[in-house]
Amino acid sequence: MLKFKVLLLICVVVSTGLQLANSQVPKKLTSGEIYQQMEKLGFLGSVLYVAAHPDDENTRLISYLANDKKAHTTYLSLTRGDGGQNLIGPEISELLGVMRTQELLMARSVDNGHQMFTRANDFGYSKNAEETIKIWDTEKVKADVVRAIRTTRPDVIINRFDHRTSGETHGHHTASGQLSYELFEKAADPTVYPNQLPRLSTWQPRRLFFNTSWWFYGSEEKFKKADKSALMSMDVGVFFPLLGKSNTEIAAESRSKHKCQGFGATGTRGLQMEYLELLKGDLPPGKSDIFEGINTTWSRVPNGAPIQALVDDLLKNYKFTDPSTSIPALIDLYKKVQKTGDPFWKEIKSKEIVSLIQRLIG
Ligand SMILES: [Zn+2]
Repeated sequence: MLKFKVLLLICVVVSTGLQLANSQVPKKLTSGEIYQQMEKLGFLGSVLYVAAHPDDENTRLISYLANDKKAHTTYLSLTRGDGGQNLIGPEISELLGVMRTQELLMARSVDNGHQMFTRANDFGYSKNAEETIKIWDTEKVKADVVRAIRTTRPDVIINRFDHRTSGETHGHHTASGQLSYELFEKAADPTVYPNQLPRLSTWQPRRLFFNTSWWFYGSEEKFKKADKSALMSMDVGVFFPLLGKSNTEIAAESRSKHKCQGFGATGTRGLQMEYLELLKGDLPPGKSDIFEGINTTWSRVPNGAPIQALVDDLLKNYKFTDPSTSIPALIDLYKKVQKTGDPFWKEIKSKEIVSLIQRLIG
């Protein structure tokens, strides 16, 4: 009997170990994917997308910003989705929040975005923003939103929900837009949550947008007829030849990670328009590039200007049939980046370079 129990224990340990090992298999990038990650090294722009729940985020736009614009793209989900339904298992409340947190992290690993949360509790459906603000520990949530802005230093913030239409959707949704709107300038004020300083520095984003779509207008018909002269618009249906996929196909793979919500999206190809309404800051004259007029090159950081040419050389000399030949240039780039004067971009780009070197040495 004892022998049997020991054998059983060994089986459990080995199979658990195998499962863990399996879940920790690193993502293996193709030569094309590595090149695309390398292109990111030359773009220094950050964007923060704000909504209330795991699954609120527009993965088409997040993937477009991360993979086509090459921006440092973060989704801030105020809650972890504990109050939702679970279509695939018995977990609800906190355990569902754990699942949905993991699903968001998996979604970001597909669309190359980053993920953050606040301490807002998903207590279930809320009729309007006023009720939500009353029930939430709102001071803590506000502090977390300001912390997210100071941590990700976004040039642009994009709200998923309209802050002006309380009662028309879940109260958490409207509240996410309201907090983002209210705190847009506050992250730059050193008297606001000074305990976050000096570990983080103050930060003023340049622009705030609302990511509108036809369903905020009631119908596609109404949206077609609506005056869009004040809106930015962009085709996020771009195709990535290096990946053999369209942006909307990547977004669909990302969206399909929300398994406990029963989501499974089919990718499409071709034109896919996204619309942004400016809420604060200056409207980019061309109305199609959220970073227009913002310096997103290495010259935005002290001692950074010479780095841009090194990244250009790295891309020019890249060998798709033998990516490992880029390792010496990446090590040299890493050393030079350490001499630049902006801790924020130094940390982000150093991590990206180290990750690339790890991929290249296998
Ligand atoms: Zn939601």
